[in-house]
Amino acid sequence: MRIRRLKLSGFKSFVEPSELRIEPGLTGIVGPNGCGKSNLLEAIRWAMGESSAKSMRGGGMEDVIFAGTTQRPARDFAEVSILVDRAATGDGQEGEVEIVRRIERGAGSAYRINGRDVRAKDVALLFADAATGAHSPALVSQGRIAAVIAAKPTERRQMLEEAAGIAGLHVRRKDAEQKLRATEANLVRLDELLADMD
Ligand code: ATP
Repeated sequence: MRIRRLKLSGFKSFVEPSELRIEPGLTGIVGPNGCGKSNLLEAIRWAMGESSAKSMRGGGMEDVIFAGTTQRPARDFAEVSILVDRAATGDGQEGEVEIVRRIERGAGSAYRINGRDVRAKDVALLFADAATGAHSPALVSQGRIAAVIAAKPTERRQMLEEAAGIAGLHVRRKDAEQKLRATEANLVRLDELLADMD
C-alpha cells in the first residue's frame, strides 16, 4: 500500500484546504520548528483511525480542529483525506482508495471509504489487511525510536505481527468469537424456551 495524496482542511495548523502529492521515491518534509511537519504525520495516523487524543498531542479528539489565532477564528470541523494505492498490498485488492475522516465539534468522527459512509472498524480493517495502520511501526514519530527500544516483548510481538500482515486476522478472530458467544447465548435461550413449551 502506498499513500499517493494527503488532503487536509481545518486539521491542526492546516486551516486552509491543503493538498500534498506524495510521488514515488523518498519524500522529505522540511521547515522551521513548529511549522507543522509532525502535524502532517499525525494527519495520516488520524485518518487511519487513531483513537488516542494523547497520541495526537491533545487533551480531547476535538483538539485536532484548528483552534484559531488572534487573526483567525477557530474552525468547527477538521477533515483529512488520504488516497492510497492498494496495488502493492498483495491482498488481491487493487486500485486507488480514498479514506476520509471528519470530526465536527460536538458530533465526533465520521469515516468514508470512496465516498461511502463506513465504521471506524472498516477503516482499521482496510489498513490492517495491508499490514499498516495508525499504529504501524512504519510511521515513526519523534521519540518513537526510544519507545521501540524500551518496548515490552508483547508490544514487540504486535509490531512483528503488523509487519507480517496478520494484524487484521486478530480483529476478525475477535469478531468471530463475539458472534460465537452471541450464538451460544441464543442457543441457551432457545433451549429454555423449548423446555417451557414442554
Ligand atoms: P518541530 O520541528 O519543532 O518538531 P513541527 O514542524 O513538527 O515542529 P508541529 O509540531 O507539527 O511542528 O506543529 C506545531 C504547530 O501546530 C504549533 O504552532 C501549534 O500551535 C500548531 N497547532 C497544533 N494544534 C493546533 C490546533 N488545533 N489549531 C491550531 N494550531 C495548532
